[in-house]
Amino acid sequence: MNGHPRRSAYEVALAQFDEATSKMPHLSPNTIKFMRVSKRELIVNFPVEMDDGRIEMYTGYRVHHSTVRGPTKGGIRYHPDLTLDETRALAMWMTWKCALMNLPFGGAKGGVIVDPRKLSQRELRRLTRRYATEISIMMGPEGDIPAPDVGTNPQVMAWIMDTYSMHRGYSVPAVVTGKPIQIGGSQGRFDATGMGVMFMAREALKHLRISAEGATAVVQGFGNVGAIAARYMQMLGAKVIAVSDVNGGIHNPKGLDIPSLQQHVRETGSVLDFGGADTVSNTELLELPCTVLIPAALEGQITEDNADKIRCKVLAEGANGPTTPGADKILMGNGTFIVPDILCNAGGVTVSYFEWVQSLQAFFWSEADVKRQLERLMVDSFNSVLNESREKSLPTRMAAYTLAINRVADALELRGVYP
Ligand code: NAD
Repeated sequence: MNGHPRRSAYEVALAQFDEATSKMPHLSPNTIKFMRVSKRELIVNFPVEMDDGRIEMYTGYRVHHSTVRGPTKGGIRYHPDLTLDETRALAMWMTWKCALMNLPFGGAKGGVIVDPRKLSQRELRRLTRRYATEISIMMGPEGDIPAPDVGTNPQVMAWIMDTYSMHRGYSVPAVVTGKPIQIGGSQGRFDATGMGVMFMAREALKHLRISAEGATAVVQGFGNVGAIAARYMQMLGAKVIAVSDVNGGIHNPKGLDIPSLQQHVRETGSVLDFGGADTVSNTELLELPCTVLIPAALEGQITEDNADKIRCKVLAEGANGPTTPGADKILMGNGTFIVPDILCNAGGVTVSYFEWVQSLQAFFWSEADVKRQLERLMVDSFNSVLNESREKSLPTRMAAYTLAINRVADALELRGVYP
C-alpha cells in the first residue's frame, strides 16, 4: 500500500457523475445541478430493548436520491461502519442503475449502524420493526420500496412488510421486495443478483472471445451476491479458485466446489478451514491471477493502491462501488474489461421490479418466466452499454453512466421544475 488519500463512497459517486456529465455537453447545467444531490435524507435515532432488558440507542438512515422516474427503490444495509455519506452514494448509484435497466424507479438506500451478527434474532426483529416504523414516513408501495442489502435478508424484509402492514391494518406486500415467497416474494429473487453477475461475466467473456469452460474466477465476499455468483460461475463451466468473507479467504488452484463450500459456511459461519484449500488474505485474493474477478463485498476495494496488481481479464462488479475512479484508469490502461456495478449487479433490482409488479397485481410468475425476462433485460443492457462505449469511445463505466443519466435528465426536463 502506498497510501493514496482514501475518498469516501459519496466522493467517488460524485466524481463518477462529474466525469460522465463532462462528456454530455448537451445537458443543461440546471439539469446537472438537480441530479447531483439527493432529494431527501432522513436520520433516525431510536431505542431497542435488548434481551437482558437494557435499552440501546441505534442510528439509521433512509435517503431518496431521485423520484423523477418513479418511486424510489434501494436496499437496507445493516453494518457497523454505515454512514450517511455512504448511504447517499448508494442511493445515487441506485438511480443510475434503475435508469440503465429502464425500470420505472428512482434510487434510494437505507440502513442501520449495527453489526447484526452480534444481536439475537429477537433483538434483530425488534430493531427492524422500530427502524421500519421510523422510516415509514418515507416508505410505501407507491413511494419507496426497500430490499435486502449487506447484513439483511428475506427474514428482515418479512418483518418490515409485517410492521408496515400492521400500521395500515391490512397486508401490503408491495412495500418491500426480496421477501420470502410464502408472503408474496418472487420466484428467482434470491438468486437474481448473483445470477445476473454470471450473465454479465458470460457476456464479457463472449465479447472477448474467451471460453467460459476452463476460465478461472475469484470472488470477494460470500454473501447474497458472492456465493450465488460463485455457484453460477461454476455451473457455467468456470473454475472458482478463491473466495473470501470478512474473516479472510481460501484458495485452491484446482477449483472449489461451491455447493460443498456453501454447506461448510452454513455449518461453521465462514469460508475458512474448507477442506483442501489454502488460506489467503483479502488483499492477496484480489491480486490472484484469474479470468474473472468478482468483488462482491463492500465499496472501495480496488483503489490506486492495488489496481496495478489486479490480474484479471474481466472485472465483474457484484458489489456497489468496489472500484475508485483512480483505479479505473489503471485497470483500463492494463486492458481489463470492466462490467460496471450499475450494470453487473442490476439483476437484484430487476427481479425486485418483477416482484413489485407481482405484489401489486397479486398475480405470480413462474421461475422460468422470471429468469428468462431477467436474462433478456440484462443481455440487452450489456449490449447497449457495449454499443455506447464503442460509438462514443467511452470506457464501459462511462457508457453505462451516460445512458442512465440521459434517461433521468430526459424525465426531469419533460416534467419540468415545480412550481
Ligand atoms: P451480504 O451481507 O449477504 O454479504 C457480504 C459478504 O461480504 C459476506 O460474506 C461478508 O463476510 C463479506 N465481507 C464483508 N466485509 C468484507 C471485507 N472487508 N472483505 C471481504 N469480504 C467481506 O451482502 P450482499 O447482499 O451479498 O451484498 C454485497 C455487495 O453487493 C454490496 O456492495 C451490496 O450493496 C451489493 N449488492 C447487493 C444486492 C443484493 O441483492 N443483495 C444487489 C445489488 C448489489
